[in-house]
Parts: sequence; C-alpha cells; structure tokens
Amino acid sequence: MSRCVPEAGGDGDAPVRQTGAMDSADAVRAEVCGWLAANWDPDLALVEWRRRLADAGWAAPSWPERWHGRGLPPWADEVVADEIAAAGSVGPPLGSGTSLAAPTILAHGPDALRQRFLLPTLTGEVTWCQLFSEPGAGSDLAGLTTRAELDGDEWVVNGQKVWNTSAHHADLGMLLARTDWDAPKHKGISYFVLPMRQPGVEARPLRQMNDHSSFNEVFLTDARVPRHHVVGEVGDGWRAALTTLAFERRFGAMGRPRYAPGPGRALVEARREAEVHFETYKWYPQRAGRADLLLERARATGAGADPRTRDDVARVLSMSQVGRWTAARARAARAGGRTPGPEGSIGKLAASDVARRAAAAHTMITGPDAMLTGPDSPLDGVVAEIIVSVPAVSIAGGTDEVQRNILAEKQLGLPREPSTDVGRPFRDLPRNG
Ligand SMILES: Cc1cc2nc3c(=O)[nH]c(=O)nc-3n(C[C@H](O)[C@H](O)[C@H](O)COP(=O)(O)OP(=O)(O)OC[C@H]3O[C@@H](n4cnc5c(N)ncnc54)[C@H](O)[C@@H]3O)c2cc1C
Repeated sequence: MSRCVPEAGGDGDAPVRQTGAMDSADAVRAEVCGWLAANWDPDLALVEWRRRLADAGWAAPSWPERWHGRGLPPWADEVVADEIAAAGSVGPPLGSGTSLAAPTILAHGPDALRQRFLLPTLTGEVTWCQLFSEPGAGSDLAGLTTRAELDGDEWVVNGQKVWNTSAHHADLGMLLARTDWDAPKHKGISYFVLPMRQPGVEARPLRQMNDHSSFNEVFLTDARVPRHHVVGEVGDGWRAALTTLAFERRFGAMGRPRYAPGPGRALVEARREAEVHFETYKWYPQRAGRADLLLERARATGAGADPRTRDDVARVLSMSQVGRWTAARARAARAGGRTPGPEGSIGKLAASDVARRAAAAHTMITGPDAMLTGPDSPLDGVVAEIIVSVPAVSIAGGTDEVQRNILAEKQLGLPREPSTDVGRPFRDLPRNG
C-alpha cells in the first residue's frame, strides 16, 4: 500500500474533480494523492483550505457529488482520511457536526437544510451539540417533554435538556422537541436545528466527579427556531433521531488528529481548533480504562509477580484485542456496503466491560494510592482519573442495559418488553418527572 507525501504549496488554482471509475482503494488512494500534491497549501486559511477540499469532493468522499462528496462507497472515507493525514494535511473537523448532524441531515433533508448547513459543518465554520436527553427522558428518549409550538415563521421552544456535551460553545443544536401531544409517543416528535447563540438558550456547565466539565444542562425559554429548520418532516423526528443514534454507536472512541508541526496558517489554525475541541474530551482516554498502560504499570510496580494480577491484565488485553476485531468487522461491513449487524451494540458493551476490568486491574496494581490525585500521585493522577471516569462508558450513547435490550429484541428476536403506550395520545400517558 503506497502512501502519498506531496510537496506543500502546489499551484492548486482550480480543484478538478475526476469522474473516472474508482472501484478500488488503490485507485482512490492514487487519485487523492495526486490531488493533494497539486492542491494542499498550508498557507491558506483553514476554512479556505477545507472549502477547496469540499469543492473537490474529498472532504466527504462517500457523500453524493451534489452534496460535496464523490458518491464513493463508505470505505473511501477512511482511505482518504488516512492519505490526508499521511500528506501532513488537514481534513474536515472532528466532532458531532461531521459525525452526527451532517449525516442525519444528509439522510433526511430537506434540501434547504443540506444547502445551508453541510458545507459550513465540513469547513468547521459552525459547531454542533446534541440536545436529546432530558431530566425525565434518557433511555426512554421518546418520552421527552420539551415542547415546540409554531408562532408565525418561528417555532417557540420551552423545556430542559441535560448531559449535553459541548453545548456551552456550540453554534447549533440537534434538538428533539414534541410538536404534537395528541399523537402517540414516537409520532409527535420533531427534529430541529436550533441556533444556540440566542437569549432563550442558557447552557449551564455541570461539574463531573472527575473534576472535568464537558457537559451542560440547557434551559430553553421561548427559544426561537426558524420555521424551515426542521430535519425530515414535522412529527417524523423520531426516524431522524434513530439515524443520529445509529451514527453515535458507530462513532465510538474519537482519536485526536496529529497535525504536522509546520508553520502554515491552515496547520496553525487546525492545531488551535483541535486544542479547543479536545479540551472537552481530554478525559475520554481515561474513561476507556487505559488498558494500554496496564502492562507497563504491572512491570514497573512489581505487581506483575502476582499470578492473579497477571491473569487480570491478560484478560483485559485479550478482550481489548477482541473489541478491536469487532470494530474491524463493523468497518469491513460498512466498507462492503452492508448494513452493520449487531457489532455496534456488541462493541459498545465490550468497551464498557474492558473499561471496568481495566479500572479494576489498575486498582489491584496500584493499591490504596490509586485514590490519590496531584503531582506526586500514581501517573500524576491518571490512575485516579481512570477510576472515576469509566462509569461514563456504560451510560453515554445508550446504557449497557439498553444495548442488551437492542440485541435481545433486534438480533435474538426475543419478545419486546410489554408496552402500555402504543397508539395512545402522548398527553394521556403516565410519564417521568
Ligand atoms: C459522557 C456522556 C456524554 C453524554 N452526552 C450527551 C449529549 O451530548 N447529548 C445528550 O442529549 N445526552 C448526552 N448524554 C446522556 C446519555 O445519552 C444518557 O445519560 C443516557 O441515554 C441514559 O439516560 P439517563 O442518564 O437518563 O439514565 P436512565 O434512562 O434514567 O437510566 C437509569 C438506569 O436505568 C436503566 N434502564 C432504563 N431503562 C431501562 C430498560 N428499559 N431496561 C433496562 N434498564 C433500563 C439504565 O440502564 C440505567 O442503569 C451523555 C451521557 C454521558 C455519560
């Protein structure tokens, strides 16, 4: 497999889109390498560079040509991202905009929203947060009670959301709100694009037990949404929400991009953007349990001499490897254009299990000092941070129990939980809070 490392600062006048057949990874690799050699210019402003990338269809190669892509199979996204990184260049921003909001709008429309939001999301000109969960509606998301009512050309939104990652600095929110209280539970929900920077939206950061502050409670008081900012159809928001949730399970852990250290404007701005973005996620490696540190810790502390500790470490490392294979299987299914099967839920459950077992093994290795934080503590407080961060994996993006329910009902065909709310108007249902 060849890698392209083009010279920076190609002439790059007009992005040229090739239309020849590209049915293999090598052909895609060769084409994107050639394009980067001619077009990557680190001296451009980051937004300008990303526009060039999107105009040529390389920012999201699996998207349709009409919407900034090249209509390539899903595997092409990963191949192209690898080549962009290998060339020392910069791809589209990471985060819930490119991974959740854009694919949902792409799938459900309408065109007016695709036109308005897809490109600025790919260039990083707008950032997003997910406004789904509520104090009384987490696992039972369709029980949400935030309401949106049409008033002339605007929807007026009232209610409260919670656990909303990055809501304190997002420009836009993927908002679920109830628009019809007489429709059954799942039918009266609409999916909106909410402008976050307005007086009716108040994001209050929450302090977590690991001392980070990644998410917020969001209070919506007569917040305004333009009438046409509805993803899909009014009242059909649940279908679009399921798309977002499927992408969220698929999204999994997020790696930090490593941008080249050079001085070009695009690189400087990309490094700055990554710094701000990953401030929110800097404890995410710890929430995954840091299985990668176990072997070294067992050796360094001498705890590896204990056969039980050795067993625990071996089990965590083996399960981690199996988890990577499950993720690879899901990637291969997507690459082959197949709908991924149970891998999303299995992978998420496995990740929770690995995180918990890794935290337990770190505790065994470190002993009571595992509770210490600060400069003199084990690994400068990283061990303590692992222990108080891993519970998040079993909750975020659907709890372990919810993943088991999905597997039981959708994969194993076991009977659904008895439901009392099918077909009845939402306003008549007993509900939380
Ligand atoms: C790190 C992190 C980031 C997050 N980011 C966001 C975000 O950006 N946007 C957003 O909207 N939300 C976000 N969330 C919220 C997350 O989606 C919810 O916490 C999650 O869906 C669970 O909802 P809940 O907290 O209300 O728990 P509940 O639904 O109240 O669950 C409580 C317990 O009951 C169990 N339970 C519930 N229903 C069932 C059932 N039917 N069968 C068996 N057991 C059940 C659950 O498994 C859990 O153990 C985030 C959460 C975390 C931890």
